[in-house]
Amino acid sequence: MEGRRLLPAAAPQMKYQRTALRAPRVTAPVLWLAALVLIRLAVPDAWHVHAQNGAAPAGDVETVQIRPNVYVLFGAGGNITVHTGVDGAIVVDSGTAAMADAVLAAVQRLKSQPIRYVINTSADPDHVGGNAKLAAAGAAFNNNAQFIGAATAEVVAREEVLLRMSAPSGAQSPFPTAVWPTETFTQRVKSMYVNDDGVQIMHMPAAHSDGDSVVFFRRADVIATGDILDLRRFPMIDTERGGTVQGEIDALNSLLVLAIPPMPLVYREARTLLVPGHGRVADHAELVDYRDMVTVVRDIVEHAIKKGMSLPEIKASNPTAGFRAQYGSDTGPWTTEMFVEAVYNDLRGKRQ
Ligand SMILES: [Zn+2]
Repeated sequence: MEGRRLLPAAAPQMKYQRTALRAPRVTAPVLWLAALVLIRLAVPDAWHVHAQNGAAPAGDVETVQIRPNVYVLFGAGGNITVHTGVDGAIVVDSGTAAMADAVLAAVQRLKSQPIRYVINTSADPDHVGGNAKLAAAGAAFNNNAQFIGAATAEVVAREEVLLRMSAPSGAQSPFPTAVWPTETFTQRVKSMYVNDDGVQIMHMPAAHSDGDSVVFFRRADVIATGDILDLRRFPMIDTERGGTVQGEIDALNSLLVLAIPPMPLVYREARTLLVPGHGRVADHAELVDYRDMVTVVRDIVEHAIKKGMSLPEIKASNPTAGFRAQYGSDTGPWTTEMFVEAVYNDLRGKRQ
């Protein structure tokens, strides 16, 4: 995680901070104000969440409230979005298996039990690892016995996620069955109405992988994007598992259709919030920059291929110039070279 910065540049949480700061009885207003200013200066950005909810970090999981009933859990591998309300909790992604206990504790601290749904944005281990633990602690809606609930929460994902996590009979499955999705969908959008909110799980074909979904909470105006958006680095296009650069660009453009910038009343800071698969929460402007970046790199590599340049020549020509400082990395699981290679292989494959 990059430092303590978890929210877009100008945090839209000011009203929560003020709520948290309001003292029950102010006997000496000037002293109070001075003390509060000192506290605000001394404490890092996400402090107010714990102040308001009484929620302490669970293990290394940090909970940040981004809307009255929406929270983001950072530090569990992938980001986790939790939507709470009268019906129970909807949890988008479940972190790594190793962090499952800490994640469950953090969700339970939000006091919105039971967990009704766990939704997976992809089949990545750091997004599905906690599925079994979270589902076991929850209870799905049971239409036959309304609100009594089934024994576990439903784990929802696109069908491709289940196919990636399971295996043809006889072969060793990459994940134990307890972690697999229990409810898959094949349509473009799966919609439901939970916690007085319209919840839409939208498939983004062939982007980061072939099974990507984003989860749009319409009333809360929050979109959990999964790994389609990752402001820490170039997008991880997993060509081995059906990811493509064009699908990635299409997905970012689809998100841009849904995301609303703080216009025209910019001073209010009201806007759609995007919770990426990793890193801090983003907004429309950052999504535009990210979409432009992927599009420009795609165009440069495509042009180079048309000119007959080889992959080493393209790499040497530095096609990510201008973006490298912000998104590039020479080490770690997803380097600049790997990104350029993925774009090249994808475009090259399409030309053959
Ligand atoms: Zn991820």
